[in-house]
Amino acid sequence: MKMLKPFILAGVLLISSLSQAQQIAYNDALLQKIRTAATSVSGEKAIEVRYIKFAESPRTFSATVEGGNQDPYIQARTAYQLIFPHSSVMIDAGMDEAVHKFFGNGKKQPYFSSRNDTVQLALQQAAKILITHEHGDHIAGVLRTAHYKDIAPKTILTFQQLHTLLNKPQMPELAMDSSQLKDFIAVDFNDILPVAPGIVLIKAPGHTPGEIMVYAQFENGKEYIFTGDVSWSYAGIEKKKQKPKDQVKRIGEDPVKIQFQLDWLNTLPDKGIQLLVSHDDIIQPQLVKKGILKEGFLIK
Ligand SMILES: [Zn+2]
Repeated sequence: MKMLKPFILAGVLLISSLSQAQQIAYNDALLQKIRTAATSVSGEKAIEVRYIKFAESPRTFSATVEGGNQDPYIQARTAYQLIFPHSSVMIDAGMDEAVHKFFGNGKKQPYFSSRNDTVQLALQQAAKILITHEHGDHIAGVLRTAHYKDIAPKTILTFQQLHTLLNKPQMPELAMDSSQLKDFIAVDFNDILPVAPGIVLIKAPGHTPGEIMVYAQFENGKEYIFTGDVSWSYAGIEKKKQKPKDQVKRIGEDPVKIQFQLDWLNTLPDKGIQLLVSHDDIIQPQLVKKGILKEGFLIK
C-alpha cells in the first residue's frame, strides 16, 4: 500500500489554505470523480468492513433529528476497520473514558472499556488511520493514547482538522500544540483525496470545519460511504432533515453546507452505495444480519 508522505506545516501555509477553501458541489460529477480517484492508488482493495460500538449516549429521536419523536434513540459511538488482503485501515479511533464523560453532561452513560481496548489494538496494527472529524468521540483515540508514537505517524488529518485542534478544540482534553503537527500526516485538498486503494476522502465541512466522509470501493466492486456526523441517524439522510436547531446552534454547525451533503447522500443508496452512519444503533445491527457489516475487529 502506498503511503502519503508527511509534510511539515508552516502556520502561514495552513492559514492561507484555509481562507481559500472552496464550496464543494455535491452531485453526480463529484461521484464520478470519486469513483475515478478510487482506482488511482494501485493495489488490492478492501474485502470487508467491521465495526465496534465502544460507548452509548441514550437520547431520543427528537434530540437527534429535526422533527423526530420522543422514542428512544441510542447514539452509538463507533469506529470502523476496513480489512484489506494484507493490511487494515481504520476509520475513527474511539475514545478513553475521561473524554466519554464530557458527552454525558454529568450523567453516567454506558462505556465499554474492553471494546475501546480492542479499538486501540486495531489502531496499532492499522496501515493507515482516517478521522472523520475533530470531535472527541472520533479522534481522542489517536491523541490521548499510550501508543501515540506508533499511532500518530500513520494518522491522516486535514489542515482544517488540525486548525480546530490547535485553535478551538471541542474540549481541553483534545487541545494540540504546534509541536505535534509534525507527528501526523497532514493533508490539504479541495474536495476529494484518494489515500489507499479504493479509498477516497471527501471534504464535508459543516458539522465541524474539518469533517470528511470516506468513500470505499471494495475488491468485489461494492461501494460504501462513511458519513461521519453529517447526520446522526439514517432517518436524517432518508428525510433530508438536519439535527435539531438547538444542537445545530450548540455545535456551531453550518446548516447550509450540511443540507447540500444530506441532499446528495439521500440519492446515493439508489446508485448502489451503502451508507454507514457513525452514531446509529438501529440499522447497523440489521446490516450485520445481512452480512454487509461485521461486528468486532480482526486483531492479529
Ligand atoms: Zn460523533
